[in-house]
Amino acid sequence: MIAENLKKVKSRIDSVKHEQKVQLIAVSKAHSVTKIQEAVDAGQMHFGENYLQESLDKIDLFEEKNLVWHFIGPIQSNKTASIAEKFDWVHSVERYKIAKRLSDQRPSKLDQLNVLLQVNIDREKTKSGFFLEDIEEIVPEIKKLPNIALRGFMCIPNPDNSADSFTKMSVLLSKYPDLDALSMGMSADLELAIEKGATFVRVGTDIFGEREYN
Ligand SMILES: *Cc1c(COP(=O)(O)O)cnc(C)c1O
Repeated sequence: MIAENLKKVKSRIDSVKHEQKVQLIAVSKAHSVTKIQEAVDAGQMHFGENYLQESLDKIDLFEEKNLVWHFIGPIQSNKTASIAEKFDWVHSVERYKIAKRLSDQRPSKLDQLNVLLQVNIDREKTKSGFFLEDIEEIVPEIKKLPNIALRGFMCIPNPDNSADSFTKMSVLLSKYPDLDALSMGMSADLELAIEKGATFVRVGTDIFGEREYN
């Protein structure tokens, strides 16, 4: 079932003309290790998680598989140490303080932690992230942090105008030739996101089915 779903999502990705490399992240939050195992058996390597405690258990279980783990959920500052130790990418950095803690707490034996700045592209009260106009000032500060590597930007747009929002994100990334990652597009809108330049799409439901909880 999951192998089949992965195949469908990949063919949706391939159906869109794009020049950039696109990496599919299987968002496994609120899904069991059995389902993750099925995805791994089907060749999926990149997984996204939102809730720290359940993700740590999963990461430990699959340790020898060399999976790539992406933290994509809200980050409380008392949770940064485990994220810095266990994850390869963090998409949801939305305050300088969080970036600083992740850098300070990244174990020195590991490579730099890859981070994306979350952009509240539609300025929604219910969503977190930097406003577009604050990005220019924060980027140089983030780049100074030694144990994290700023790679690009992430957004969760309002579905009503995602095309415009994806375009704005793409324009933003183009201002930084040294950055290469744009995380946008989910089950419902991944084609549009890829058309606009997404390099990571984050897909949960269309791979794993409805979540067991939210
Ligand atoms: C849950 C989640 C997804 C996956 O959403 P689906 O609609 O299940 O594909 C993607 N990105 C983020 C940030 C999420 O929290």
